[in-house]
Amino acid sequence: MVSFRLTVRIRYSSSSDDQMQMANIFNKACILILGEFMREDLLLMIPGPTIVPARINRAMSAPIIPHRGKEFSEMFLEQMNRLKGVFRTKNDVYVLCGSGTAAMEAALSNTISPDDKVLCLVNGKFSERFAEIASSFGADVLVLESEWGHPVDVESVADVLSEHPDIKVVTMVFNETSTGVRNPVEDVGELVRHTNAILVVDTISALAGDVFETDLWNVDICVSGSQKCFALPPGLAFISLSDKAWEVIDSNDSYAYYLDLKRYRKDKAHAPYTPPVSLVYGLKESLDIIDEEGLENRWERHKNLANIAREGLKDMGFELFPIGEEWCSNTVTAARVPEDFDVSAFKKILSSRFGIEIAGGQADLKGKIFRVGHMGVATEREVYTTLVCIELALEEL
Ligand code: PLP
Repeated sequence: MVSFRLTVRIRYSSSSDDQMQMANIFNKACILILGEFMREDLLLMIPGPTIVPARINRAMSAPIIPHRGKEFSEMFLEQMNRLKGVFRTKNDVYVLCGSGTAAMEAALSNTISPDDKVLCLVNGKFSERFAEIASSFGADVLVLESEWGHPVDVESVADVLSEHPDIKVVTMVFNETSTGVRNPVEDVGELVRHTNAILVVDTISALAGDVFETDLWNVDICVSGSQKCFALPPGLAFISLSDKAWEVIDSNDSYAYYLDLKRYRKDKAHAPYTPPVSLVYGLKESLDIIDEEGLENRWERHKNLANIAREGLKDMGFELFPIGEEWCSNTVTAARVPEDFDVSAFKKILSSRFGIEIAGGQADLKGKIFRVGHMGVATEREVYTTLVCIELALEEL
């Protein structure tokens, strides 16, 4: 096996000239191969948007058909039904036009009224976004914050829920893309199901890539988006709703208009406003690809890629950002950098020399971590290539 680990071992553990020469040849071959990528495509190893396969691009170039016609509405409805399999839910899943945040906003604007109590479990940028959205709708927001890099603390959630039996909505992010942490949704779901509150979970950067069980884990509203593990372009948001969630929505004075979910429920096959027809063609192709691979095999592939990324980065001397490997995401790996490390120069080398895009840290983590996405249709080829190029970029820094 010609692997990154082999290169690393040769490069760092061996003093033999022959082996050093082999490593150099291998590195040069990678640069040549990547020259092609640079001309044709960027190698997107950011945590979304991800590489869109040619199959999906081709499917999206089909001619537009009338969005109110039978052919489109049957196809649209069929994709929403197929999404239930990916969400692992018996409940309806709706496709909204907008990025993932549109579904986050729909989840809250439809369920909360001013002064309603909302508990936001925050341990990163995206879980913080839920708190911002809830505040913008006038909710009484309780923020239970864990240090970034740490998972949501389930015991504290239990305490807050018993202290505040009037909490109406609990929000959390399954895969906190900003920190590379995978949160214990199942444990929180087990707590929330015994209360009157509903649990809203953002799976935007993990659904269709990592194990997620909407119904088994008692998730009332699950939101996701197209441009991550579905390997679609940005522009579609997905949302599933349990009966408990609909009860809350039906008794809530909704502030929403474009994202008023009751309008979408009225006639599922016909979205209230013009749906993005081309993206729906793409969604059909993405779901075909998922079916061909098998959802569980897809979970396994992502897990394997995450292991390769973690081991590769650790071999290079980086420390993973999450506090323990059991909390590490299977779709994005976040690594801490030393104090004098210039993340933007490092990213620039990867981008300009190799055509590889990775992400830096967000908010307070800017300059302190970098993140490598390995989701969607990424394979070992892309992850090993990225690791080898990271190693080369480090030499240039
Ligand atoms: N939530 C998570 C976990 C994300 O990773 C992202 C995007 O990176 C979002 C929410 C926001 O999604 P969008 O940019 O599609 O609105």
